Amino acid sequence: MVRTRVAPSPTGYAHLGIVYQALFDFVFAHKYKGKFVLRIEDTDRSRFVEGAEEVIVESLKWANLLPDEGISKGGEYGPYRQSEKLELYQKHINELLKKGFAYHCFCTKERLDEMRKLKEQNHQAPKYDRTCLKLTDEEVKQNLAENISFVVRMKIPDNRIIVVDDAIAGKVEINSNELDDQVILKSDGYPTYHLAAVVDDYYMKITHIFRGTEWLPSTPKHILLWEYLGWQESMPKFAHLPLLLNSEGGGKLSKRQGHASVDYYRKEGFLPEAVVNYLANVVWNHPEGKEIFDAREFEKAFELEPFKVSVKSTGAKFDLAKLEWMNGEYIRKMSDSELTQRLQEFLIDHPAKGKIAPIVPLIKERIKKLSDFIPLTHFLFDDPEYEIEVFKKLKVENIKEVLGKVVEVLVGMKESWNAEKFEQSFRKLSEDLGIRSQDMFQLIRIAFSGQLVTPPLFDSMNIIGYNSSLERIKKVATSYPNFS
Ligand code: GLU
Repeated sequence: MVRTRVAPSPTGYAHLGIVYQALFDFVFAHKYKGKFVLRIEDTDRSRFVEGAEEVIVESLKWANLLPDEGISKGGEYGPYRQSEKLELYQKHINELLKKGFAYHCFCTKERLDEMRKLKEQNHQAPKYDRTCLKLTDEEVKQNLAENISFVVRMKIPDNRIIVVDDAIAGKVEINSNELDDQVILKSDGYPTYHLAAVVDDYYMKITHIFRGTEWLPSTPKHILLWEYLGWQESMPKFAHLPLLLNSEGGGKLSKRQGHASVDYYRKEGFLPEAVVNYLANVVWNHPEGKEIFDAREFEKAFELEPFKVSVKSTGAKFDLAKLEWMNGEYIRKMSDSELTQRLQEFLIDHPAKGKIAPIVPLIKERIKKLSDFIPLTHFLFDDPEYEIEVFKKLKVENIKEVLGKVVEVLVGMKESWNAEKFEQSFRKLSEDLGIRSQDMFQLIRIAFSGQLVTPPLFDSMNIIGYNSSLERIKKVATSYPNFS
C-alpha cells in the first residue's frame, strides 16, 4: 500500500513549503488509495518552538490536506512525535555501534572548531577528521565510564559511488568521500533528523517521500543508513521537489519576504484551493496544459513517473501576482451564496459579517482575495471620510449648490426609489445644470462614500438604504467644504 508522509519540524511558523510538500504527498497517497501521514520531527530541541505543532496542523487543515494518520489523527504506527520514541532510536544506534557502522565521538566543540579552521586554511572540506574512530574499545569504555560528553557518528565508507534514483531529479551520483561522518546521536541524547527520519520511515512503512530538494544532498547518508540497518528492501522512493523561490532575485522563499508563511495566505483571504492549485502548477505541468485545476483533477492527472516537471532547475519562482490572479478566478467561479459563506467565515469579527449577501454580486468581479472586500466596502459600514481634494478632482464648479440640488432630487424620489428612476433623474439634473452626467454621478458617489471608486452606485446606496444614503449626502451638502 502506498504510504507517504510530511514530516515538518516545529521550529516556528508554518512555511508555505509544508503545504507544498504535503500537497504532493497527499495527492499521491490518495491517488493510489494509500495513506498520508503527518509526523512531527522535534528532535532538534534547540529549535523547538512551543505551539508550532498546532500551527502546522491548522495549516494543513486550512489547505484541506488532512492527514489520514499522524499527530492530530492517531493511527497504528504511532507515536507520531519523534521526541516520544527515544528508546527506539537508541536501540538502532546501539545496533549500528555494534555492527561497526557508527562510533562514539568525544571531540569537544573547541577541538572541532580548531580542526575545521585548519582544514579551511588548507583548502580542504571541513569534514570531521575521524580522530575518535581510532579510539580502542577500552578507551571508549573508559571515556563513557568517566561520563565524558559524546555524540555518535555514522561511519561513511570510502570511495563509494552512491546513487540516488530520484523520481524528479533522475539518477544523482554522489561520491561517499564528499560526505561527512554524520552525527546521528547528539550529546543531549536526542537523535539527529537523519537517523530518526530513516527509522520512522521504516517503521511507518513509508513507500514514497516527496520533500524539498534541500534534502537531496542528505539522501546518500539516508541510503547508507537503510543499508546499515538491513532495511534496503523497504527503502522508499524519493521525489525531491524543486524549491520555492522568491520571484524577485531568486533565493528561497523566506520569512523576510512576508509571504512565506501559510498564515499570510490565510489572513489575506487567499482560498486554499487556489493556493494548492498554484503550488501544483508552479512545478508540475498538467498534461492538457491547463492552469486551473482542482485537487481532484490534479490527483487524476498526476503521475510520479514520468513526473511532468515544469521547472527542471533547482527552483520554482513563486509569483504572488499570478497567485492573486488565480485566486480571483476561483472567486469568480463561485456561486454568490458560496462566496457569501466564505466571506462570512473570513470576516468573523467584522461589522459586515451578517450583511454580506446583498453586497456579494456587487464586488465579486472586483476582488482578487477575500480581504479586498474590506477596503472596497468599508464605506458601507463606517461613516465615510471626506477630503476636499477628492471633490476637486471633478469638473464641477459650484459643488455646494449642485449638492443642494442633488438632495432635492433625492427627497423627491422617496416614493420611487429604484435604479431606473435614479439614473433618469440625475441625467436630467446634469442636463439642467450643464454638467456632464459622469461628473454628476461621480459627485454623488463621493458625497455618499468619500471614494472615487465603489461598486455600482445605486446598488451600493441601496445596501444602506434610501434614508441613510440621503442623510449622508444631506450632511455633505450642508457642511461642504468643512464636512463637520
Ligand atoms: N523535518 C524535516 C523538515 O523540517 C523533514 C525532511 C524530510 O521530509 O525528510 O523539513
